[in-house]
Amino acid sequence: MRYTLFKACICFAAAVCENFDGYFMRHALYLASKGLGRTRPNPCVGCVIVSVNGTIVGEGWHHKAGEPHAEALALIDAGSQANGSTAYVSLEPCNHFGRTPPCTQALIRS
Ligand SMILES: [Zn+2]
Repeated sequence: MRYTLFKACICFAAAVCENFDGYFMRHALYLASKGLGRTRPNPCVGCVIVSVNGTIVGEGWHHKAGEPHAEALALIDAGSQANGSTAYVSLEPCNHFGRTPPCTQALIRS
């Protein structure tokens, strides 16, 4: 389990009292907040990859416009563990080629 990063997360207390979807979405929002003020003109986005047994296997957030999106970084973080896992993303994944390839395709491939 990768709980070390959670120490700074405002959602930690929610883990024991709310459903897991709400918990992981809140954690995705926390990750997104790490990009606050740096991603313009893009939005801040966070992504958490959670395995079938409820373990976080990947985390990512959008750092800066032109750099990889949150989903792409979370998938890299998760590696082969992304297969069969669930992605919690704070924004609908993009489906277009811009300065980076579409996240929907990366999520499907994983
Ligand atoms: Zn994207």
